[in-house]
Amino acid sequence: NSTVNSYRPTATQPSLNNTPVSLDGKANATFVFLARNDDLDGVVSSVQNMEDRFNRKYHYPWVFLNDEPFTEDFKQRVSILTDAPVSFGLIPRTHWVQPDWIDEDRARMGRLKMMGQRIIYGGGTYSRVVGMQFLISDWDLLGSVPYRNMCRFNSGFFFKHELLQPYRYYWRVEPNVKFFCDIQYDPFVWMESHDKVYGFTISLEEHEPTVPTLWASVKEFMSQYPHLIEPDNSMNFLSDDKGEKYNLCHYWSNFEIADMDFWRGQAYTQFFEFLDAKGGFYYERWGDAPVHSIAASLFARRDQIHFFRDIGYRHENFQHCPSGAQWSAGRCACDSSDSFDYTDHSCLRRFENLFQ
Ligand code: GDP
Ligand code: MN
Repeated sequence: NSTVNSYRPTATQPSLNNTPVSLDGKANATFVFLARNDDLDGVVSSVQNMEDRFNRKYHYPWVFLNDEPFTEDFKQRVSILTDAPVSFGLIPRTHWVQPDWIDEDRARMGRLKMMGQRIIYGGGTYSRVVGMQFLISDWDLLGSVPYRNMCRFNSGFFFKHELLQPYRYYWRVEPNVKFFCDIQYDPFVWMESHDKVYGFTISLEEHEPTVPTLWASVKEFMSQYPHLIEPDNSMNFLSDDKGEKYNLCHYWSNFEIADMDFWRGQAYTQFFEFLDAKGGFYYERWGDAPVHSIAASLFARRDQIHFFRDIGYRHENFQHCPSGAQWSAGRCACDSSDSFDYTDHSCLRRFENLFQ
């Protein structure tokens, strides 16, 4: 029940049965864009920007996913923006809705409790936690069920969608994001040839009330499945005391260039199922960003995670703007001095310290 783009009958469609796609020096990769029909203007803006700055020359396919059927208007306005193959998929209900075994009373309590945080943290009066004012862009999302569905889908299901089966690498794109610079090489090929599994541009601290018991679950998982932990891991990105406490650091997942075979592999499959069974996607509001980041940090070698310093990127309210030669070579439309990189709530320093 996925619909494939009907506006570009000449475009090569991705293989749906795992037969190899012809690669011609390219990687087996695609863009992935989860969106609602209402997100259309922001989607058009992001796609146009990516096409202008990168994909016009590379023609990687676009896969759009939605929990409701995309409208004809959506498909038409998106398809016109690119010569690359475009497909539009419907997410199976079982990959999206709150599972039956979740205790709805407990989940509702969790949502109410989290909305209470709005009063403590988001009431508008500046307090000790003033930094957190910036980390929550929309306080209403704290109590939202669809937002939880989205986080769980991005954590454990997107890479299982039939339209993504042919592909290994993906680049996640969201509405209203900006790619500031020309990207004059192929990041997918680069990931593959350097044996990377996860690439990011911005890292930051999670809002603690959304993940109060996540780390306890992670520690339980580590003690039950020690053989799945990579010896050369990056625990020091996640914890400042060798794993006792979570420092809330994560890679911001609205930008991801990563290897879906990593998510499809044994370690992550076990990890997601373990976390899912805890119910924390609904009883709390575990985000796909901390879940992906913790997994990449524990199951991949630290040198398999890559900071794309040369890719200028913005998702409200933060941006990464390259500097120096990278800024000029990329003709970046951003201010180098306006970068989240080394500000107070950034975790980039911790990432860099992994390699000191
Ligand atoms: P934020 O970045 O954490 O504020 O979350 P967003 O609202 O940007 O949502 C993250 C991504 O999921 C975006 O690509 C949204 O378009 C998409 N998204 C969020 N909620 C839904 C939903 O209920 N249905 C669908 N189809 N997409 C959603
Ligand atoms: Mn977003």
